[in-house]
Amino acid sequence: FIIPDWPSFTKHIEDFYWKCKTNTEGKVASYIPQLARMNPEYWGVSVCTIDGQRFSIGDTSIPFTLQSCSKPLTYAIALDRLGPEVVHQYVGQEPSGRNFNELVLDYDKKPHNPMINAGAILICSLLKTLVKPEMALAEKFDFTINYFKRLAGEESLGFNNAVFLSEREAADRNYALGFYMREHNCYPDKTNLREIMDFYFQCCSMEANCEAMAVMAATLANGGICPITEEKVLKPESVRDVLSLMHSCGMYDYSGQFAFKVGIPAKSGVSGSLLVVIPNVMGICMWSPPLDPLGNSCRGVQFCEELVREFNFHRYDNL
Ligand code: GLN
Repeated sequence: FIIPDWPSFTKHIEDFYWKCKTNTEGKVASYIPQLARMNPEYWGVSVCTIDGQRFSIGDTSIPFTLQSCSKPLTYAIALDRLGPEVVHQYVGQEPSGRNFNELVLDYDKKPHNPMINAGAILICSLLKTLVKPEMALAEKFDFTINYFKRLAGEESLGFNNAVFLSEREAADRNYALGFYMREHNCYPDKTNLREIMDFYFQCCSMEANCEAMAVMAATLANGGICPITEEKVLKPESVRDVLSLMHSCGMYDYSGQFAFKVGIPAKSGVSGSLLVVIPNVMGICMWSPPLDPLGNSCRGVQFCEELVREFNFHRYDNL
């Protein structure tokens, strides 16, 4: 086993869990009613190793929407299907240094990276227009959710229609980004912007729980092979690129500090989820709705700090 003394490891996870549970900082996202209604007490942590050992504590079977945690997944599918050369003709690899939904493009008038809204909307256009272009939006939805399911080892994955409808209603900024990119010819030919925006909101509205998301993170930790089903879902080259950008851009405008302090690839979402990948070891999903001012889950970030204080998971430990 990759973690030989599992009971002692999970005992630490439990200790960190209870320690973070007392943290009552942060505010639940309020831009749509479905997120505003989330109970700030929810707190769950699930772990899945690359050899399939699992541990969960807290609210780990309650579903939440993926939101920005879908961004590394759609990026991974685009890379796997189109290759990095094609994908990165359209989107950069640079942290934006700005908010995730800021109305800004890089010096080449491309979105900075696929982990912020502009880049993720662009990735949706590549998936729709360049990957199996004959598929209608309904089929492309099935195609995408099936990929997500395979990454999650066929564990529960759903779609929250109320969140989807609300996202679409409360999306002035995302539409502004969509049009701003169209003005700068960012999309492939034949892109239908309305369809792309719907597809982006649908990806944000996919629903999973900590247990399923921990398997997804473990699939990434395992180079694209799901540790539960042993299916090869993604190429290792695609996973390498996804993890690189999660490392530098996955935590909004806290990404640099997180890379420094915690030193592992991660991606957070506005529903309070936090996906963490310890390459060749394990995936972890944390979920707690209250967010800090930069949009990351307060308990999630604290848990990561506890984790690397105790274990040498930081990329540059072990020197
Ligand atoms: N649905 C959100 C948006 O597009 C997702 C962003 C996030 O999780 N930060 O604004």
